[in-house]
Amino acid sequence: MQVPIYRGRFAPSPTGPLHFGSLVAAVGSHLDARTQGGEWLVRMEDVDAPRCVPGAADDILRTLEAFGFAWDGPVLYQHRRSEAYAAALDALIDAGDVYPCACSRKDIAEAARRMADDGGPVYPGTCRRGLPAGQPARAWRLRVGNSPVSFVDRIQGEICQRLADDVGDFVLRRADGLFAYQLAVTVDDHFQQISDVVRGADLLASTPRQIALLQALGYSLPRYAHLPVAANPAGEKWSKQTRAPALDVGRAPAELVRALHFLGQAAPPALATADVATVWAWACEHWRFDRVPRRAAIMAPAVGG
Ligand code: GLU
Repeated sequence: MQVPIYRGRFAPSPTGPLHFGSLVAAVGSHLDARTQGGEWLVRMEDVDAPRCVPGAADDILRTLEAFGFAWDGPVLYQHRRSEAYAAALDALIDAGDVYPCACSRKDIAEAARRMADDGGPVYPGTCRRGLPAGQPARAWRLRVGNSPVSFVDRIQGEICQRLADDVGDFVLRRADGLFAYQLAVTVDDHFQQISDVVRGADLLASTPRQIALLQALGYSLPRYAHLPVAANPAGEKWSKQTRAPALDVGRAPAELVRALHFLGQAAPPALATADVATVWAWACEHWRFDRVPRRAAIMAPAVGG
């Protein structure tokens, strides 16, 4: 019998500096990988170039190093992966799973009958049977079915979505020519042979889309574990948009201990004044996945902001 190889990843988008929310995802995925003798890869999710901030990718990597993270192999940059995304899209077009769409945002907003969980309109299927006469293709969409897509998340339990009802045919290549995150993440998780996706629960609702894509491409599925996300006192996920403060490298041991506590680990508070190597030694020895709170979000006040 083949021994399964654990391969995890941390996949930040370089839209700004690392903040506490991304540190939690990095700590959780890193410890899950290392305590299972696995590899841990870093991927820069810079496919959405207009949203990326110059210098942010290097800044993120330097911050990870200062926090004592070590990753396996070279960093994979999505901006260098266009050919792989184009090949996957072509395969899906050939299989009849993807179709061109001429709708503008306004067309969709006017024709949509339902809203999706993420607040956007569910695509009403206007171009499913072909482009309206004389209208050029703007985007490319995956044709989704309505049978339930379900999986058992290692933290959040059983998750089920009916893509046609809950999301609608979704975009794989945008009107501006860029490949969508859903396609890029799926192609790259397969390419990097990721066995375990450990990331924030803000991506839980995207997972059935990624599973549908993996299945359409004939790829095997990783296991998923969605960690609780750090929310600000207003209940919003800490992110660049909600002005999450950048991590202070000078407080790395204390921030690591804070991330461990957030993930339900009983790190002795005295570790906060130790060095990062000591914090990691404690964490690798004492990490208990079963102590990670089975919640989608937990309030975490800003520190140092
Ligand atoms: N790039 C995504 C983010 O920073 C993470 C994607 C993933 O882990 O699948 O939110």
